[in-house]
Amino acid sequence: MLCLGIESTAHTFGCSVVESKGKVLSDERDVYKAPEGSGIHPRDASRHHMEACSAVLRQSLLSAGVSMKDIDIVGYSAGPGLGPCLRVGAVAARTLAGFYKKPLVPVNHALGHLELGAMLTDATDPLVLLVSGGHTMILAFSHGRWRVFGETLDITVGQLLDQFGRTLGFASPCGGRIEQLAVQSAGKYMQLPYIVKGNDVSFSGLLTAVTKLASEGVEATDTCYSLQETAFAMLAEAVERALSFTGKKEMMIVGGVAANKRLAQMLEAACGRQGSKLFVCPLKFAGDNGAQIAWTAIQQYQDTKKQIKVEKSFVQQSWRLDTVDVSWRR
Ligand code: AMP
Ligand code: MG
Repeated sequence: MLCLGIESTAHTFGCSVVESKGKVLSDERDVYKAPEGSGIHPRDASRHHMEACSAVLRQSLLSAGVSMKDIDIVGYSAGPGLGPCLRVGAVAARTLAGFYKKPLVPVNHALGHLELGAMLTDATDPLVLLVSGGHTMILAFSHGRWRVFGETLDITVGQLLDQFGRTLGFASPCGGRIEQLAVQSAGKYMQLPYIVKGNDVSFSGLLTAVTKLASEGVEATDTCYSLQETAFAMLAEAVERALSFTGKKEMMIVGGVAANKRLAQMLEAACGRQGSKLFVCPLKFAGDNGAQIAWTAIQQYQDTKKQIKVEKSFVQQSWRLDTVDVSWRR
């Protein structure tokens, strides 16, 4: 079975063809770049997706060496995400499914990050840290759903990095630039608010404090270093507590922020103390992509045979992962 997966929740418009044994036949993307110093404007990002859509789709089929006739199902990212962006992917998916008479499968974007990460890393029953532009969640699978052990109480870690990066004049996404600056610091740590409540984290006070330090003229290398040390230590603390509580022997990190080496290092240490093995989603697939949608749609469809009529298909800006039934995972 071949699935065409379409991703368009935020900055990335992606199309990928994946086959049911998990082979990724193609993974094409075009990423919206905001102007320097600004964040994603939903209207501009959706315009980008509309312009990129047909070239990305065509290239994805071409790289996979298939045509639409060979595709068995069409999966699309139905949420959570930015409404105008989600609608572009949904329109493309509906059009293709309707015209070529293929089953249409709506996929929860966060679930896509988890399921592709598990397939690529071979993690079977991990505690998961999902860290991206839209999510900061600690999850474990139990009784048919991914359950939330901890999450952010305000902004996500991706938003923290991106919003701080923008005050330094970078364009979103800024996590990579912040990581590069942080490694150039001589390790000069500036005290910043460290807020873990129960197993939840809060980053907004940290953002205010680090922005103030930057405005006072503290070197960018040192603010970036201190920001990473503080935010990632908060996450590592919450993860370690969840590992200790659940006794999970596997820990997996997925989402765009999983690309960060310092975060992986801190989690590696936490896993070491708890006797767990760390699985890091491969860099190429850490951020948003069509393959995560295609792979999840395949599993969903194979297990439930559920599809949605084109006229009933939907997008949902808010769609919590812990409300989604995951019948194929036992
Ligand atoms: P996603 O929403 O999954 O595509 O992830 C995007 C987020 O990942 C953005 O907030 C980026 O700033 C962040 N990101 C990308 N690369 C890195 C990195 N090397 N370190 C930290 N964050 C990163
Ligand atoms: Mg994402």
